[in-house]
Amino acid sequence: MTALHWRFDTTFASLPEAFYAHVSPRALPSPELVMFNEALAIELGLANAQVAPEALAKACVGLDLPAHTVTLAQAYAGHQFGHFAMLGDGRALLLGEHLTPAGRRVDIHLKGSGPTPFARRGDGLAALGPMLREYVISEAMHALGVPTSRSLSVVRTGERVWRERANEGAILTRVAASHLRVGMMEYAAARDEGQHLLRLVDYAIGRHYPDCAHAKRPALALLEAVVAAQAELIAQWMSVGFIHGVMNTDNMALSGETIDYGPCAFMDVYDPATVFSSIDTQGRYAYGNQPAIAQWNLARLAEALLPAIDPDEDEALTLARAALEGFGQRYREAYLRRMRAKLGLTTPDGEDVALIEDLLAWMQTHQADYTQTLRQLARGGLPEAQRQADAALAQWHDRWQARLAAQGENLEATLTAMRAVNPVYIPRNHLVEAALAAATGPEADLSVLERLLAVLQNPFEERAGLEAYAEPDPQGGVGYRTFCGT
Ligand code: AMP
Ligand code: MG
Repeated sequence: MTALHWRFDTTFASLPEAFYAHVSPRALPSPELVMFNEALAIELGLANAQVAPEALAKACVGLDLPAHTVTLAQAYAGHQFGHFAMLGDGRALLLGEHLTPAGRRVDIHLKGSGPTPFARRGDGLAALGPMLREYVISEAMHALGVPTSRSLSVVRTGERVWRERANEGAILTRVAASHLRVGMMEYAAARDEGQHLLRLVDYAIGRHYPDCAHAKRPALALLEAVVAAQAELIAQWMSVGFIHGVMNTDNMALSGETIDYGPCAFMDVYDPATVFSSIDTQGRYAYGNQPAIAQWNLARLAEALLPAIDPDEDEALTLARAALEGFGQRYREAYLRRMRAKLGLTTPDGEDVALIEDLLAWMQTHQADYTQTLRQLARGGLPEAQRQADAALAQWHDRWQARLAAQGENLEATLTAMRAVNPVYIPRNHLVEAALAAATGPEADLSVLERLLAVLQNPFEERAGLEAYAEPDPQGGVGYRTFCGT
C-alpha cells in the first residue's frame, strides 16, 4: 500500500519512443514536505488517512510508487520569444496519469526533479521560492475560476540549487489535464519519421477532444477546438489581469489550461503595456499583447498540423487559415461576455464595448487599480467624492448607471452577481513576495504563505480584517520584476 492512492496508467508511453525518455525519480537524502494540498488530494482520491509527513513527502516526489509505474520525461519543441528550439522536460517528470474516482485522467508531474536527457545545460533543479510561487499562483487562479494546472505539494529536497546565490532545492508536484503542448505538435512535425504527427494528433484528440475523432478532418477539428479553448482561456486571463509572462509555444497547453507558471504576475494599475518578466525586454508578452501572442502561437500549431489536415497543401492551408481566423472573434466574444458580467450588463447592447473601453481608458489615464476599481463598482458604484473630482469619470458613471437602470433588473441582485465575478483578493505581487521571503528565509516561516493561500482560496467574498490583502502595494509596485528559468 502506497502512502498516496495513486491509480496510475501511462498512455503517453504508447506513443513512439521519440516522444519521451524513460526517467526514474531520483533518490533524495531527506525529502521534507513544505506544502500539501489536502483538499486537492481528497478530490483526486489520493488521500490516505494517518500518513506521516515523511512518507507523504516521499510519495509526492515519486519515491513510493505502485509497482510497474512507467515514469518519463516528455520531448517537445517550441518557439521561445519567436525562435524555434528543440526542448523537452529538462527538469520535469511525468509520474503517471492518475485516474480519479470521478473518472478523470490527470497528469501527475514533477518540476525540479533532476536533470533528464532533455536538460541541455540546465541542472534539472528548481529553487524553493519559485516552486512555492507556482503553487500559490496556480491555486489562486483555480479559485478565480481560470482553467489551470493545480499544485499538490512542494517538497524540499535537502539540496542546494545555485541561482546567482545558493537556494534550497524543491520539487513541485503539479496536476494537469495533460502536458500536451503546442510545442509538442511542433516537435512531432519537425521529427516526422513515419506517423509521429498523426499519432500525436490522435492521442491529443483522445485525451481532450474525443468528438473531433468523428470529424471529416480530425486534425482540423483539433485545431479549431484548441483555438476555441485558448480564446476562452486568454479572455479569462485578461479579465482577471493575469500576465503569464512567458507565452512560448512550449508553455501553451492543448487542453486550454494555464500551465508552466514562471515569471507570471497580476497587473495592479491598468496598463496594457504591463510587463513584469525581467527577460521580456521587448514587452513581447505584455498584458495587452497576450491575445495576439496566443493567435501567433496557434499559427505555429496550425503550421505543424498542416500535413495532418489535408494531403493537398493548398487545401490544408486554406482550412487552417480559416480556423485561425476564428480566434479573433471567439476571443472578442469571450472577453466581452466576461467584461459585461463584471459591469453587471445582462443584456447585450451596441454601446457595451465603448462603455468597457472608456472605463479602461480612464483607469489607464488615472493609474487606477484594475481589480479594486471593478470591485468598487460591484459595491454599488465609485465613491461620490471621486466622481465630484473627475468630470469624465462622473459622466462614465452616469452612463453606466443609466445602462443598469434600462435593464430593468433588481439592482441589488445585479450587484450581487457582479461581486461573484469581480474578485476582492488576487495574488498581489508584494504579498506573494513577502510570503515567499518568509518561507525561504532563515526561519522558514510558512505561516505568511498559508494565510495568503487561505485568503486567495475565496477571492470573491469580502471578509472583515482582510483589508490589507485587497490593497495594492503601498510602495506602488513600481519596477516589480519576476524571473524565469528559476
Ligand atoms: P520554461 O521556460 O521554464 O518553460 O523552460 C523552457 C525549457 O527549459 C524547458 O524545456 C525546461 O525543461 C528547460 N529548463 C528550464 N530550467 C531548467 C533547468 N534548471 N534544468 C534543465 N532544464 C531546464
Ligand atoms: Mg515550460
